[in-house]
Amino acid sequence: MVEGGESPTSPLMQHGKDYDLIVIGGGSGGLAAAKEAAKHGAKVACFDFVKPSERGTTWGLGGTCVNVGCIPKKLMHQAGILGESFSDANAFGWTVDEKQKHDWGKMVTGIQDHIGSLNFGYRTALREKKVDYKNEYCSFVDANTVKGVNKRGVEKQYTFDKCVIAVGGRPSYLDVPGARELCITSDDVFSLENPPGKTLCVGASYISLETAGFLTALGYDTSVVVRSVFLRGFDAEIAKQIVGHMERHGTRMIRDTTPQKFEKTEDGKIKVEFKNTMFGNKFKEEFDTVVLAVGRDAVTEGLNLPAAGVEFNPKNGKIPCVDEQTNVSHIYAIGDVLDTRQELTPVAIKAGVRLAHRIFGDDGKPKLKMNYDLVPTTVFTPLEYGCVGMSEELAKETYGEENIESFLSYFKPLEWTVNHAAHDNGNMHREDNACFAKVVVNKADSDRVVGLHYLGPNAGEVTQGYAVAMKMNMTKQDLDDTVGIHPTVSEQFTTMSITRSSGEDPQSKGC
Ligand code: FAD
Repeated sequence: MVEGGESPTSPLMQHGKDYDLIVIGGGSGGLAAAKEAAKHGAKVACFDFVKPSERGTTWGLGGTCVNVGCIPKKLMHQAGILGESFSDANAFGWTVDEKQKHDWGKMVTGIQDHIGSLNFGYRTALREKKVDYKNEYCSFVDANTVKGVNKRGVEKQYTFDKCVIAVGGRPSYLDVPGARELCITSDDVFSLENPPGKTLCVGASYISLETAGFLTALGYDTSVVVRSVFLRGFDAEIAKQIVGHMERHGTRMIRDTTPQKFEKTEDGKIKVEFKNTMFGNKFKEEFDTVVLAVGRDAVTEGLNLPAAGVEFNPKNGKIPCVDEQTNVSHIYAIGDVLDTRQELTPVAIKAGVRLAHRIFGDDGKPKLKMNYDLVPTTVFTPLEYGCVGMSEELAKETYGEENIESFLSYFKPLEWTVNHAAHDNGNMHREDNACFAKVVVNKADSDRVVGLHYLGPNAGEVTQGYAVAMKMNMTKQDLDDTVGIHPTVSEQFTTMSITRSSGEDPQSKGC
């Protein structure tokens, strides 16, 4: 029978197993699924175990988002944009010393304290919902049994009627000498005790650019090295603008280049040997810190999926599913471990809640499936980028170039206009026309908006509402019929008239 906790009284436990549901992974998706199932009377256990990073970093309950993802990332981004606003504050009449130094240790302590309180909150929430939290590494024994191994190596077996795999992913390492020994990843950067110093971010991913963005804004000499395309999959025109803005604001971009080797120098630095992929020339440079952000792998390797008969993609370890159901009908998967689905926290949460409700829901409410279409997202580079739907390239590929029109508008937020000093000094701090709005429509379908893109402050806040409208089949006419809120950045979307095909200049000339 079930170890620890109260004796199980679940009305659903007629199958003789220890649990109605075992959830493997206590991250965004797993916690959401476990709590929702318990709410409907299921007897649930949630396993969460963090294997330390190569560097030895470890963390508490809550998964990637809370500990080493969205939360610390957004808070460090906030630290960066706060620093950037000192110069604005002076223009608005405050007296702020723009040269004051940032205290890395104080920021990390503040952020880690907040994360600690979230870890505690998750444990409490599981207890309150009567979910058994098992801080044990979990793997399959057979299609109805798992084994859990705790920190001390003690092993126990548990049987289940249903199982949700929500093990997420971990950063990949480059397969070059010294990478594992000398480099860190997003698993480590948010809890670094000492300031990173001169830093190299490796990769063209959003995680690489976000990290480089906040490190530059905090005053660190930061470079990004990329082999090919920045922000693959996002709108290419906007990716280019993001990178241009970052370069003008101090991040160095090393293009068409890959690191070949990492070596420790006598004075404790990391010597990186680079190779230019276009011309083949090699060069070396020393850094204090190298952050690898070259992708993430699903962590299914240790799960012993074959013991349960669960199929997975051998290329990336991810699990193919139909409506979150694996090829084994009582075993499901959600979140980052799913093949070909967005790796985002709200996606994992919504899929987890809906799945658990579909299986255990007893409240008479409709059993809804997860819809992975039109998922909005934001890249938290210094100039933030929010988007919903397709990039212009994908829209053309999908609907035919002749059917796609894009409405374009460059602009400068009102809040930036008072800070003339920054601009006059040749400092590109608050550039004209740095911000950008793009609406991609399908002319063959009543000008249906198939992609909405925004580059500027508060991108997540701006984009969220338009995602609702796009879910409701918004057309360009709907945007034109909407009255804007003045003065905001979001009102841009209600007044856009310049099209790509017109050839007119979408840069704003005045207020
Ligand atoms: P996870 O949250 O990764 O949770 C999986 C849990 O399972 C982990 O705790 C893991 O240790 C545990 N586990 C794994 N294997 C086992 C096992 N065998 N036994 C027991 N436990 C196990 N998303 C956004 O929406 N917005 C953002 O701004 C954003 N920023 C990000 C920034 C960074 C740097 C990173 C890395 C990610 C970011 N994400 C963001 C993505 C987001 O964090 C993930 O999509 C989300 O956490 C996925 O949730 P999950 O439940 O699938 O997995």
